[in-house]
Amino acid sequence: MSYVTNLKCRECGQEYPIKPLHVCEDCFGPLEVSYDYAKIRAAVSRAAIAARPHNLWRYRELLPVDGEPEAGPFSGFTPLLPARRLGAELGLKKLYIKDDTVNHPTLSYKDRVVSVAITKARDFGFSTVSCASTGNLATAVAAHAARAGLKSVIFMPEGVEAGKIVGSSIYGARVITIRGNYDDVNRLCSEIADKYGWGFVNINLRPYYTEGAKTFGFEVAEQLGWKLPNHIVLPTAGGTILPKVAKAFKELKEVGLVHGGEFKIHCAQAAGAAPVIHALHKNTDLITPVKPDTIAKSIAIGNPADGFYVLRAVRESGGWGEMASDPEIIDAIKLLARTEGIFAEPAGGTTLAVTLKLIAAGRIKADESVVVSITGNGYKTLEAVANSIEPPLVIEARLKDFDAIYESLGDGKRSLKGVA
Ligand SMILES: *Cc1c(COP(=O)(O)O)cnc(C)c1O
Ligand SMILES: [Zn+2]
Repeated sequence: MSYVTNLKCRECGQEYPIKPLHVCEDCFGPLEVSYDYAKIRAAVSRAAIAARPHNLWRYRELLPVDGEPEAGPFSGFTPLLPARRLGAELGLKKLYIKDDTVNHPTLSYKDRVVSVAITKARDFGFSTVSCASTGNLATAVAAHAARAGLKSVIFMPEGVEAGKIVGSSIYGARVITIRGNYDDVNRLCSEIADKYGWGFVNINLRPYYTEGAKTFGFEVAEQLGWKLPNHIVLPTAGGTILPKVAKAFKELKEVGLVHGGEFKIHCAQAAGAAPVIHALHKNTDLITPVKPDTIAKSIAIGNPADGFYVLRAVRESGGWGEMASDPEIIDAIKLLARTEGIFAEPAGGTTLAVTLKLIAAGRIKADESVVVSITGNGYKTLEAVANSIEPPLVIEARLKDFDAIYESLGDGKRSLKGVA
């Protein structure tokens, strides 16, 4: 049973059938999936959702699928961690980390969007799927395609981290790196998508793909006991996840799963790729493309496809946005790791670094509930912090060599309680 009605142009409202289409023929606006919310309202309940498996399909009434989805049986439903030690350092009483560093199977938020896109690719009968990627999308498409029995061809800009290349090729994907940045890759892929009959998850399957990002927001609300947080801070690259989390929160109210509650949604970008933040701060709708230059490669997009909708969602909610420099990103990665035991990739460092700025500016207050969105795993981007950690001490396997360094470990006063 599906509650999807059709595709609809976000700009002029023109309707289209459920097909691999993504732009309006009349006005070139982006197409989005529409639902029959009255029917969904009658069909869903908190109890029914609670009884379902812990994956993103527990919200299937609000996703564009019919029948049992085949992709992503363990994707989504990642932890929402109360962050007490980090909260104490930041002076916040109700701080949570939404932790997509442990999303199955490729350790980023992209497992959500790709679960939906690959399900639709199967429905539409594509045998090859593809994407333009800054890295995490690549690994997700490659892995989910492998499991669905589809071929995959992946396009990335040169210079992405080794973990993203190895982590795509290993699944049997054909990886092509382009001499240029993500925006060059994306332009080429649009041409390829027009010419060859492939399912590009973030081009001709984009309306379905982007709907998967709503599950990040659905989970946050369910995990807070069907309440919305006062604040949620999200990173922006192409501009998918931020407006879709805002849409998710609104849909939950619309179908009666959440009763009221205002939320502010805040945008985080790396200073070296911050076209949306520049527009926000200049109070304009005009997003001027930039040439990305940052260690936060997974969010290094200079000309975001949905940047306008990020601005709109942020402004509508009364939220704000800031950017973080590379050193601030690294400090925040270390802060999160040291206080909460979570190793984020630079996108997560960006989000936390921006949260610190929002607190300092008084936009987030001590007793408000705050969700910091950690969207990718640091084990895939070791290069970013490899030179910013304390190198290991190297000694011979001799007790007297250890004795010589023991004092320097700074733990001399601990009692030997429990040691026989
Ligand atoms: C893709 C990505 C994002 C956000 O990208 P959007 O295109 O704005 O949805 C954030 N964090 C990580 C780790 C990503 O891979
Ligand atoms: Zn249109």
